Amino acid sequence: MESLPLTNASIWRHTLSPADQSELERDDGLAHARPDVLVVGGGIVGLATAYFLATQKKSVLLIEANTLGAGATAAAAGGIWPSDQGPHHPPAFQPLALRSRDLWGRLSLKPDFDIDWRVNGFLTVNPNRFRNDAVAFAHEAQEAGYTVHAVDAEQITHLEPQLRPGLSAGIHCASDAHLNPLKAAASFARASRRLGARFAVRTEFVSSKRVGAHVVEVQTSRGPCSPGQVVICSGALAPVPAHFVRPVSGQMIATGPLPPLLRGTVGGQFLTLQLKTGEMITGGTVAENDHQEPDATLSFQMAQAARELIPALANVPFTQAWCGIRSATRDGLPIVDRVPDCDNLWISTGHFRNGLLLAPATGQLLADWITTGVCSEELEPLNAARVS
Ligand SMILES: Cc1cc2nc3c(=O)[nH]c(=O)nc-3n(C[C@H](O)[C@H](O)[C@H](O)COP(=O)(O)OP(=O)(O)OC[C@H]3O[C@@H](n4cnc5c(N)ncnc54)[C@H](O)[C@@H]3O)c2cc1C
Repeated sequence: MESLPLTNASIWRHTLSPADQSELERDDGLAHARPDVLVVGGGIVGLATAYFLATQKKSVLLIEANTLGAGATAAAAGGIWPSDQGPHHPPAFQPLALRSRDLWGRLSLKPDFDIDWRVNGFLTVNPNRFRNDAVAFAHEAQEAGYTVHAVDAEQITHLEPQLRPGLSAGIHCASDAHLNPLKAAASFARASRRLGARFAVRTEFVSSKRVGAHVVEVQTSRGPCSPGQVVICSGALAPVPAHFVRPVSGQMIATGPLPPLLRGTVGGQFLTLQLKTGEMITGGTVAENDHQEPDATLSFQMAQAARELIPALANVPFTQAWCGIRSATRDGLPIVDRVPDCDNLWISTGHFRNGLLLAPATGQLLADWITTGVCSEELEPLNAARVS
């Protein structure tokens, strides 16, 4: 493709301030060896869970095998797209997704949350996504409670003037939004630390010791810990039976900073969007494997598709490529539950393509459940029994 090989690195690292970088890399140690709650995994799901537990005055220790946000979170496109995603999911998705989108909006107003929040919409121009009938698709999705509208050629040009001519129909989700995943991870860490939470990075969960139905000790790579509750949020590496979640890899590529070309996210053959800092990113493939290395042929196809969709990209080189591994369940919904034969072990995994979108909702509702002992209606459909 491009004359130079693409660098294998997620775009988001370059967008971080030294302060954000330090939030993700700083190690608070295992000093807190008897926390109320031990969270395992410092991706967006573990970080959101830790934050909401800390807001409920729980003492929280989070352990992360790498640095915070280093897993699928660093690979994400940054989409908070309840209306684009919702019509393709079971009904239980909607209350969670809408709650979460609103939570992100509210978090973005807090001083600790510098997340590049933009409510800039999602425009789908790939007819396969709306079964070649935008009006019927939009009607159905509206009936189901989503904010979507069918748009014609003129409206598409009005919304995104840089798209190639000849796109005759689309679906526009005006209230879908976007954020920077690693800034979001750093923001949760910053806000949680302020509430007393501690983060031990480069610290692995190794095993747990049970007495009856109770976890009494967790062995980490840096020593033991005796928490009151344990929440496993280790994404694709969660220690759950293989039929619960499967790895699904995704790939993306990026240009360097460009002048403004796109306003929101566009769903063509791949999704394409422009960051606040100017870089164009495209991709979001879904492959049933656990590949971590970007595939050059796929990168080439994604670049070509982006140039076809946006003619102004004709001579623009793509310079970076990266992959991430999502954890997926059979029905595409996460598993958020207490482990059945254990009274203080919880799991939150399987967020698949929507971990960034759903993390505030699953984190908040799980924190409520752990604190009050009551499982909310929204979490009930996310039980582990449905996939076991
Ligand atoms: C290409 C791509 C694009 C995507 N785009 C979007 C999007 O636009 N919007 C959206 O909502 N979602 C998107 N996603 C999905 C999203 O990235 C995931 O759903 C989300 O990151 C899952 O978060 P997590 O915290 O569960 O997992 P992760 O981010 O993978 O975090 C799990 C963490 O657990 C740690 N860990 C694992 N094992 C251990 C252990 N034994 N001890 C300690 N720590 C451990 C890992 O190091 C890791 O940091 C995308 C994913 C990909 C791959």
